[in-house]
Amino acid sequence: MLTLTDVSVRYGFYEALTDISMKVEPGELVVLLGANGAGKSTIFRTISGLNKPTKGGIEWNGASIGGMSASKLVNAGIGHCPEGRKLFPEMSVYENLKMGSYAVRRNKKEVADTLERVYTLFPILEEKMKASAGSLSGGQQQMLAIGRAMMSRPQLLLLDEPSIGLAPLIVKQVFDVIHEINRGGTTVLLAEQNANAALKIADRGYVIEDGKIVVEGGQDELFANDEVRKAYIGA
Ligand code: ATP
Repeated sequence: MLTLTDVSVRYGFYEALTDISMKVEPGELVVLLGANGAGKSTIFRTISGLNKPTKGGIEWNGASIGGMSASKLVNAGIGHCPEGRKLFPEMSVYENLKMGSYAVRRNKKEVADTLERVYTLFPILEEKMKASAGSLSGGQQQMLAIGRAMMSRPQLLLLDEPSIGLAPLIVKQVFDVIHEINRGGTTVLLAEQNANAALKIADRGYVIEDGKIVVEGGQDELFANDEVRKAYIGA
């Protein structure tokens, strides 16, 4: 479904990603683990067309997409929920959700059905639909950011550090919904520093350090990997 082959990305002279090769198969939930600055957001921004690879290839559903614009990629089924949520704080919850379907050519019925699905996943967003996004709690804002990305009805949802800054109980709620979204048929690529919570719901994962993939494996292998445990699980 999604394949990156030897992808490198530079910011000026600085090489943020070096020869990244990874795959996400239909229906999978794949986690990308890495510390601050390892390059997780750069991988996501490159997949969703916000950064251009300087080298290597990206394939999506059999077609080459490296260098394609972000608006084309959202129409091709790639939804991106960015780190830091990037909501429109003055706009209402409902308006933020509508913005998620704006760039995608859909009819009114599809948009209404998707909104219903998002409200079913996150009932609090329906309760608070008239409230401004900026007035929500951190956890509710994260739910809104995920809901907004779901409004484009992505085949592949990129979730960049959804647990950042959230209390453990809220992290659990957010991860439960991510798991449910995946079981509902949406393929998920999840970047996280919270390896414990992320690996619990993941099929497979990659560990990135200094712009390179250093470990990859199934859920059990990563849980059992000493380096992963020391660096990301704290055991
Ligand atoms: P974080 O969780 O801190 O965002 P990350 O794993 O997502 O970490 P990236 O944001 O992808 O990491 O950053 C990878 C490297 O690229 C870091 O060294 C970062 O300082 C650098 N970098 C990111 N964006 C830019 C930019 N626009 N210009 C220059 N360097 C950048």
